[in-house]
Amino acid sequence: MDGTTSTPVIRPAKVPGEVPASRYTRQTITWIRRWNDHLFSFRITRDAGYRFKPGQFARLGLYRDDGPKGPRYIWRAYSIVSADYDEFLEFYSIVVPDGDFTTRLAQLREGDGILIEKMNYGFLTLDRFERGRDLWLLASGTGIAPFISILADLGAWEQYERLVLVHSVRKVEELAYRDTVESLRGHEVFGEHLAADPSKLVYVPIVTRERLDGALHARIPALLGSGALEAHAGIKLDHERSRVMICGNPEMVDDTRHRLQNAGYRVSRRGEPGHMAVENYW
Ligand code: NAP
Repeated sequence: MDGTTSTPVIRPAKVPGEVPASRYTRQTITWIRRWNDHLFSFRITRDAGYRFKPGQFARLGLYRDDGPKGPRYIWRAYSIVSADYDEFLEFYSIVVPDGDFTTRLAQLREGDGILIEKMNYGFLTLDRFERGRDLWLLASGTGIAPFISILADLGAWEQYERLVLVHSVRKVEELAYRDTVESLRGHEVFGEHLAADPSKLVYVPIVTRERLDGALHARIPALLGSGALEAHAGIKLDHERSRVMICGNPEMVDDTRHRLQNAGYRVSRRGEPGHMAVENYW
């Protein structure tokens, strides 16, 4: 990070990557939280008309005129962390070394501009599921983002008996949103507590390359195979009662999906609700 502020200039010019101006709005960064040197969250202003379902992602755009390929717009998908009732939109990002978009994004400051497409995307939403009793949210790294939005919504708390959030990271300092998760238990939405019973939400941190008391220490597929995840959560996993969302590292998503498919879980398809919904985070 070089410490300079570089407000993206929004130009009508015909440059590669341009999206028609009618398809996006320009917003302003209002808040930034740096978790460590490669993870940060940020909020942007939100148009009153911007709608999304918890679990969906937006496409954010930056204009750059200093790249090796010349001036261009660059767009990336980012899951929305904030709740649909928040007045802002929050996102959670990793800085990918030499990444065209994230290294630039990490240099932005409060007050800088950013583009957002009016349309939002993705099927990691609760309406994809057949009715179930427990909702399991399996994330690695920044893949926790959509699950924070889902857990901040009354829908998940009303539809399920138990909610289990599993977050696998390499190091303790990457367990972002731990405080947010804990605070959700006492959170009020429109005057109603999300949780009448705070134990309804089970949070399972996994740290694979360091030790942390209270956390598990193996990868999600291995923990599913050994039964350690169920034992730690104190809840049985089976496709009759469990609905599972998976988001994060594409290899983690694949490995976990295959393991669950072999155990009888069906991936939700368009118009065909199932037991499992997945999203690769990159
Ligand atoms: P990561 O390697 O995805 O690790 C996060 C957690 O997932 C760790 O607990 C890790 O366990 C586990 N994991 C990794 N592979 C797995 C697999 N096949 N099955 C099950 N669990 C698995 O780490 P990260 O820091 O979140 O991301 C890694 C890199 O991906 C970053 O350095 C970044 O460059 C890139 N990335 C790119 C984007 C993008 O938008 N382009 C977004 C996010 C990340 P282990 O410790 O055992 O590996």
